[in-house]
Amino acid sequence: MKPFVVEKMTIGDLADRISCPASELIIKLLKKGMVCTKNHILSTETIESLLQEYGVEYVYPQEKKHAARKVAEVCKDSEPRLPIVVVVGHVDHGKTTLLDFIRNTKVAAKEKGGITQHLGAYQVDTPQGGIIFLDTPGHAAFTKMRGRGVHAADIAVLVVAADDSLKPQTIEAIRQAQQQEVPIIVAINKIDRVEEPSIEKVKNDLTKYGLVPEDWGGTTICVPISAKFGQGVDQLLEMIALQAEMLELRAQKNIPARGFILDSRLEKGRGPVATIVNHDGVLKIGDYIAADRSFGKINSIVDSHGKRLKKVGPSTPVVIGGFETLPEVGTLYEVVTKEKLKALKASHDLSRLSSNQKIVAPEGIKLIIKADTFSSREAIIDALKIIADKEKNLSVVFSGVGDVSESDVTLATDTGALVYGFHVKIEPNAAESARQNMIQIELFHIIYKLLEDVERRIEAARETKMISVKIGEAVVRKVFNIKKLGVIAGCYVQDGKITRDGIITGWRGSKKIGEGKIRSLERENKSVKEVNAGYECAFLIDGITEWQVDDRAECHVLKPEEKK
Ligand code: GDP
Repeated sequence: MKPFVVEKMTIGDLADRISCPASELIIKLLKKGMVCTKNHILSTETIESLLQEYGVEYVYPQEKKHAARKVAEVCKDSEPRLPIVVVVGHVDHGKTTLLDFIRNTKVAAKEKGGITQHLGAYQVDTPQGGIIFLDTPGHAAFTKMRGRGVHAADIAVLVVAADDSLKPQTIEAIRQAQQQEVPIIVAINKIDRVEEPSIEKVKNDLTKYGLVPEDWGGTTICVPISAKFGQGVDQLLEMIALQAEMLELRAQKNIPARGFILDSRLEKGRGPVATIVNHDGVLKIGDYIAADRSFGKINSIVDSHGKRLKKVGPSTPVVIGGFETLPEVGTLYEVVTKEKLKALKASHDLSRLSSNQKIVAPEGIKLIIKADTFSSREAIIDALKIIADKEKNLSVVFSGVGDVSESDVTLATDTGALVYGFHVKIEPNAAESARQNMIQIELFHIIYKLLEDVERRIEAARETKMISVKIGEAVVRKVFNIKKLGVIAGCYVQDGKITRDGIITGWRGSKKIGEGKIRSLERENKSVKEVNAGYECAFLIDGITEWQVDDRAECHVLKPEEKK
């Protein structure tokens, strides 16, 4: 991991270096009472305070570490925190055996006896300092971990069985850790089974993926171990602690608490609960919390001994309760104000779909925004608001933090929205689903490019005339008047198809009885997107309250007029 070297630079340059919009930094400085432009040269102190806010590791140009440590000492806003370690590697190479061995031998007996619940993470104390292990090998929170500056794991221990060397999942894990810039420590396992040449072969294979062992002149720490018999495990722990010390991990004290959701489940009597390790700030009972699509107010914090806490600082794995829905593993959570929670929920409610509800989103260009952090999400939404004030045909259906997921694509399918990702990736199943449903996902790394794209689309939409095209016709066979819901027409589709995004015109003979959007479309009691000719269906239409048997329903959709 290349640390950031603190030296004077402009806001624009700093923004580029830490991959965040310059406007975001300008606003942050404004809030601190500094008025400056993109070309304003920042002092090293200001840069340092911004880097801390973004959780970016940094050093000073001369005597890098020494100086950085000094700065850290005087910096009252942060405190050292324990490293979070994930164990990764190919199946059967010994990840579980290693984690079990460490837990059974290194977690103090008193503590072990006291562990009343499985948290998905445990703390080990070594002579060199504490280490937090995520105890699910290749933890989902690691593979999914997102967000800039905040990592679900600080160090990855790559387990490679000496008798098998590098295998596909080993290579995948290396790639992932390198992508996330998480340092790798290699544990060459099962040495009780092999001779020296096998260990050398592993080292040789590692070099092909950019991991050159220290004794070969590189920087990758390799520790030969036997997870089964414990050989080398102490040395491995020592190396982890040393690596952690070099990373100089610090937690910001005075910012709203934030961290990662490591695990989540429904618990009887408690509702949704989540295992978390707080990364920065102090998380307290009564705090309002947001984790992508899940929101809540914290009503319980329980540690691994089952002890109820009022608050928790960095690096202690705990289970928290109070979420209204299950938060997704791997997402970043953040404590927010009551007002912000309300606003986040309002934008979320719009996008919550019950199975028989069609979302009624405004016509025009609809967007789903996924960003890497809450702050970049906010910057994008603010900028889009300015455009939306001028262009009434622009709306944001949903915005959240994290990679583009399958549920984003489902929402896009249901609403006809485009998905914009900012500094995020597309999850593989989301990419597949987008391909199948022909959903457009655009990824951006620069905020103004994203805005340019929105403006280009608005321009294109303005030039395109929409025309109404008839796509199908159905005849009413039964009418159900359901209290509270309205009048449902049970129909048989005679021609073409009826689609949920369509507009229905009702005819009785040659008399038009009404026109409206489809509020729900069902086939065999299931909500569907379309029903083809030859099938029966039932629908509820906004604005048509009187259907009779033998009425005709024409379905129209709006399509851009094809240019000649
Ligand atoms: P995982 O899939 O990576 O979690 O691998 P496991 O921890 O389940 O280990 C797979 C198999 O390798 C098990 O049968 C273990 O007992 C065995 N194993 C793990 N570590 C060692 C070791 O250091 N020496 C030997 N001889 N066997 C080991």
